[in-house]
Amino acid sequence: MDFVTIRSFQNYFTAHILLGRFRDSGIECFLKDEFTVTVDPILSNAIGGIKLIVKKEDAEEANLLLQQFDEAFRQNAVCPKCGSKTIELVPKQTTANIATAILTWLFGSYAISAKNVYKCGSCGYESENLTENFQNEGVEFEEENLN
Ligand SMILES: [Zn+2]
Repeated sequence: MDFVTIRSFQNYFTAHILLGRFRDSGIECFLKDEFTVTVDPILSNAIGGIKLIVKKEDAEEANLLLQQFDEAFRQNAVCPKCGSKTIELVPKQTTANIATAILTWLFGSYAISAKNVYKCGSCGYESENLTENFQNEGVEFEEENLN
């Protein structure tokens, strides 16, 4: 059976929220390197963080859930630089986009997920990693509000 990493986390709590969310939706999943990251946060950078793993056939549904989660988070996200709440998901403007475009063309929708970046509408701060690099003031982070 094939497994794929849906997302990596530096943050134990975000990883667990998503783990619970996925399981509630009937997606089999588990966390890899959780113990290592929790014990030694410095080492977590070296091994790439806590990885959320799902079966390959569940990857598409898992990615949809991930998008819903991100969207709920984004609506209440706060820029870590200026405190603005106008965080938008925009296409990333780098040369990496060309490579991604080719991959997308070759392999279909599979390569699409990493192309966008979250950008602050006030100061221009941007990050691909919404849930780790942006703060969140709201209760949307809690599970019941994601439905
Ligand atoms: Zn900002």
